[in-house]
Amino acid sequence: MVNTASIRTNESGTLLAMIEERLAEVRRVIRDTAVDAGRDPDAIRIVAVTKTHPRTTIDACRRAGMCVFGENRVQEAIAKFSDIAAEVELHLVGHLQSNKARLVPGLCTHVDSIDSLDLAATLSKRCVMANVECRVLMQFNSSGEKTKSGYATEKSLLDDAPRVAALPGLKLRGVMTIGPFTPDAARIRDAFRRTRILFDDLKTVLPSETIDTLSMGMSDDYQLAVEEGATEVRLGTALFGLRGSADTGPQGEVRS
Ligand SMILES: *Cc1c(COP(=O)(O)O)cnc(C)c1O
Repeated sequence: MVNTASIRTNESGTLLAMIEERLAEVRRVIRDTAVDAGRDPDAIRIVAVTKTHPRTTIDACRRAGMCVFGENRVQEAIAKFSDIAAEVELHLVGHLQSNKARLVPGLCTHVDSIDSLDLAATLSKRCVMANVECRVLMQFNSSGEKTKSGYATEKSLLDDAPRVAALPGLKLRGVMTIGPFTPDAARIRDAFRRTRILFDDLKTVLPSETIDTLSMGMSDDYQLAVEEGATEVRLGTALFGLRGSADTGPQGEVRS
């Protein structure tokens, strides 16, 4: 659902100015947090999550210099990105049903939410047929929340990883997680820390692969994620404002 109410103005110059301002602020926070944590700030990328936001927001975001986007539903991504897919890096960050995998090649360059070998194998076939390579992350359900998808245990993810990495048409690059939906920073940090350890274990299990992406942290918890080693943060609200009441949040839970 595209939520036009989240756009406070129809004047695209003002929208651009708002996004530029928020982007600058987020980049400043990432930089300061990384430096304080002894990390290289340039090692952290921002994925602009545009779900529920209209095309005008995406266009303004591109004018602000962003070219890495995230959507959580394939159908919505088709509606908004089909004609610009070749010009941007588009990540599918939400759960992908196997029967929608055929829609990914030519649209999404990245699928950050691989949660089973079956899904990976189906996506692999589709990518081979389309003669494209899709970069993928394996999703870890670090919070244990039932509404979230992803591998339930470190072991189950690591067991599947060599088989995912061996599939043609896919390039396994790392791990993605969604932090627990809680104000308790210690719990969130703990989930990110476990995911970081899993990411390091994945590198050990696959020494000949380029495992370089740890996607964790959203608008409410990206500072914690940067402190705990994220190389990619996925930001919607921090860049574009609240999504409004139609939004059900990442993978099901009702947010605000
Ligand atoms: C919506 C969503 C985000 C962005 O959420 P914000 O809290 O608005 O930054 C990040 N990751 C996933 C998987 C999402 O569905």
